[in-house]
Amino acid sequence: MGLKTTRPDEINEKINKLYGFINKKELEKAKDLLRQIRNKIGEDPELVSFCSYKTTGDSWEMKYVLKGLEPLEFSKWKGNENENWKPEYSSMGSKLKNIIKISLIKEQGFLCCYCQRRLYLNDSHIEHFNPQCKKEVDPLDYSNMLCSCQNQLESGEPRHCGNLKGDWYDSKLLVSPFNKDCENQFEFYGNGEIAPFGFENTAAETTIEKLGLNIQNLLIYVKKQLNLFRRKS
Ligand SMILES: [Zn+2]
Repeated sequence: MGLKTTRPDEINEKINKLYGFINKKELEKAKDLLRQIRNKIGEDPELVSFCSYKTTGDSWEMKYVLKGLEPLEFSKWKGNENENWKPEYSSMGSKLKNIIKISLIKEQGFLCCYCQRRLYLNDSHIEHFNPQCKKEVDPLDYSNMLCSCQNQLESGEPRHCGNLKGDWYDSKLLVSPFNKDCENQFEFYGNGEIAPFGFENTAAETTIEKLGLNIQNLLIYVKKQLNLFRRKS
């Protein structure tokens, strides 16, 4: 049963435009539009309290991921290798992929490895930290696997986290959740924005840009608004 959206056309139009700005990373324009949407919502007394909603809570940090052992089923499947069959990531069935994903999700405390949004099995994907397209990377190496949010994108929804990162990787410029120090690389402001910690922290700055960490903040905000309109139907 689908949810009916009752938000006015005017807001619909603004939200589509907002997605456009976020996609083009015109974040200043996006924020301005967001303010307009917020003001519009503010005309409805029921929604006023919502306007003070903070995006990801009072604090945010990239969390260190302590890797455990790979699931037994995964080891067994790889162990079936013989002269006629070689295990490959592309030939792995969805059942085994889900077992791996569940194991990763648990390791990460049910949060996206990059943006810390809550993970759901049907809206997440296995993320190869060092991209599997690289010759030196073993796509079946569990120690290189993480679970990132976003799987099926809604139409027009901007990409972020693993989806936006794609095949980009730079060991010097990408802050790694496998490194304990990742927790000290970012600052979180009261307005929901994530910024690099310290002076000339190029790695944190690049990571925010390449993973769209502030895009994700804006999206959480927009989605809350959309849900609010849906609930009113
Ligand atoms: Zn994420």
